[in-house]
Amino acid sequence: MSDHVLRALTDDGAFRVVVLDATETSQGVVTAQKATDARAQLLAEVLTGTVLVRETMSPDLRVQGIFQGHDGKGRIIADSFPDGTTRGLMQLPKEGDITLGDHAVLNMMRTLHNGELSQGVVSVDPREGISGALMQYMQASEQVTSFIAVGAIVRGSVVARAGGYIVQLLPEVGEGPLMVMTERLREFESIYGLLGAGNAEPNKLLEELLHLMPHTKVGESEVRFECKCSEERLALSLATLPKRDIAELLADGAPLEIDCDYCARHYRFAPERLRGLLATS
Ligand SMILES: [Zn+2]
Repeated sequence: MSDHVLRALTDDGAFRVVVLDATETSQGVVTAQKATDARAQLLAEVLTGTVLVRETMSPDLRVQGIFQGHDGKGRIIADSFPDGTTRGLMQLPKEGDITLGDHAVLNMMRTLHNGELSQGVVSVDPREGISGALMQYMQASEQVTSFIAVGAIVRGSVVARAGGYIVQLLPEVGEGPLMVMTERLREFESIYGLLGAGNAEPNKLLEELLHLMPHTKVGESEVRFECKCSEERLALSLATLPKRDIAELLADGAPLEIDCDYCARHYRFAPERLRGLLATS
């Protein structure tokens, strides 16, 4: 069973809703990054939020969410692609831990079709968490007013649940529907309560959110953990190294061993292969 995303519109044209179950995807990344407990939760929430933003704002673009921990300590990178594949990376600080806290920031970055990057940076209020930072980002950088909640329930290295939703206010939203929705979300359980009660399944979450509001599902897509690395890609990036550096790697005559930072896949380049790069680069 892979994770999936559901998109819906309310029939009155007031709201667009995107819901996501990212449990398996988060588990894949958490395992590859050997993250546990609070770090794993933070990693899963940045991942879930990044996928939600891509699915809502630019499903056909690559979106990366880069979280920098309090006082600039450590980084979490969530990397989400248009085909639904998603990977993540956690870089721990040399000292201390990566946490929410003063001066933590979230940078949402999109790779446009012409290869240029478009980014928006917001500070993360520890009381509002990743959800609050994403709401701020949507307002400031995308000029979209929305309610966002992302959450992950993690025990040790096991992601019991990860998921979330975005309720986007469409330009035609009237005061009536807005009041109904605001009221609905106010009485709504926290995302952790919902996930804990087994309501992470997108259809259930959607029904909970749009209770009594006539709506139409407009799309569904899959999301999964997968890394884009390959021997060819790695060879290509090795080929960009200065010849002197490649010669140095060859010096001891042993194969070059490299692990992918994202998925921990192991690669081994025989000296002959490196020599080939030296000849062609
Ligand atoms: Zn990889």
